[in-house]
Amino acid sequence: MSFQSLGLSDALLKAISKKGYETPSPIQEKAIPPVLEGRDVLASAQTGTGKTAGFTLPLLHYLSENPKAKFRPIRALILTPTRELAAQVYESVKDYSEFLNIKSAVIFGGVNQKPQVATLRRGVDVLVATPGRLLDLQNQNLLSIKRVEVFVLDEADRMLDMGFLRDIERVMNLMPDKRQNLMFSATFSKDIRKLANSILNNPVRVEATPENTTVEAISQKVFRVAKGKKTGLIIKLISEGNWKQVLVFTRTKHGANKLTKKMIAAGISAAAIHGNKSQGARTKALAGFKKGSVRVMVATDIAARGLDIPLLPHVVNFELPNISEDYVHRIGRTGRAGANGQAVSLVSADETSYLKGIEKLIGERIEVEIIEGFEPDPNASTEPVKQGQNRQPRNSRNSNKSGGHRNQRNRNNKNNSRRRNDRRN
Ligand code: AMP
Repeated sequence: MSFQSLGLSDALLKAISKKGYETPSPIQEKAIPPVLEGRDVLASAQTGTGKTAGFTLPLLHYLSENPKAKFRPIRALILTPTRELAAQVYESVKDYSEFLNIKSAVIFGGVNQKPQVATLRRGVDVLVATPGRLLDLQNQNLLSIKRVEVFVLDEADRMLDMGFLRDIERVMNLMPDKRQNLMFSATFSKDIRKLANSILNNPVRVEATPENTTVEAISQKVFRVAKGKKTGLIIKLISEGNWKQVLVFTRTKHGANKLTKKMIAAGISAAAIHGNKSQGARTKALAGFKKGSVRVMVATDIAARGLDIPLLPHVVNFELPNISEDYVHRIGRTGRAGANGQAVSLVSADETSYLKGIEKLIGERIEVEIIEGFEPDPNASTEPVKQGQNRQPRNSRNSNKSGGHRNQRNRNNKNNSRRRNDRRN
């Protein structure tokens, strides 16, 4: 299928070809036609599938083919959970609307509101926003979403994870009832389905990839290693393998900072990206990473959500996520756009149950390797280490393995609310 056959305008086709896209991705093929028809759409798609163009292209087509008042009220609102994602979606909107008479803007918190307000005053057709800043400016009467015709909720699952449900409801009450709604989510929990029911009107349901399957182009490997030797091993892998663009996941912000410092000390350019970093620091780190001056980016799950880094060759799980689905999201950042990617996980004894959970989810065993000098500790406990408890207590070294194992399984599969909190890093 071609972009032409989807019925997009010449100005959009020109922008698409300038981006170098040849054919629509599966989510674009499926989502663009119903969006052009004006239908509400519920799409299952994660970052890397081309979902942004999937909603942006038909939205821009509709707006430009149906011009309205000259003073440009906000006609399309795209809500995203994080600042990074907002900035990236905005970049896409700008790129795709290059040859259209459409104005767009992005607003998010953590930065001065003045330039954002000045842009809004000049008139904006498409607004990309995070919920907090949107409501903040609305409360100050600095913007109005009363004339929104198309509403996009991007990464709805993360929105809920991050506690934005009430904000989404507030935003909905500020828009006209009659509008088109598009909702994107990587996962479909009960809460997401409930949210979808409250937002969408007789939606067309589209799916990019079957949920929870690992992208085939990605080669996965596990290195079994002693906890205390992980830093040495990752430095060895990156330097000896001459890895260039490496995204490393840690479970905590503190872990991300610590590892970044050690990499830099070992002569590897690295930057951490997580919720505690200022917007400026995050943007700088991401820009450095994209252009190659920063070789390693160390991120937590939430911070990495929505990062648009095409053709990422290496993803390393410095620690496995305690939620198996997060593994799929993490490694989904490699092997994009047809390029082969490599995902490696450094797994210590206490992460054994997480590994089992992941293998069960993806339905395959991941190849295991042990590197000489970086062997796993045969005496280490297989009991999962609690958050914030980085070191193994000395007296647990000879703990009963099989007994611990049963506990881990239970812990891995239950207690959702605690696990949610863990993810906020
Ligand atoms: P997204 O899932 O929207 O974050 O997009 C992931 C990456 O794929 C981005 O870098 C896009 O620029 C790129 N992309 C989107 N659509 C296409 C396409 N049809 N062909 C090639 N690359 C694309």
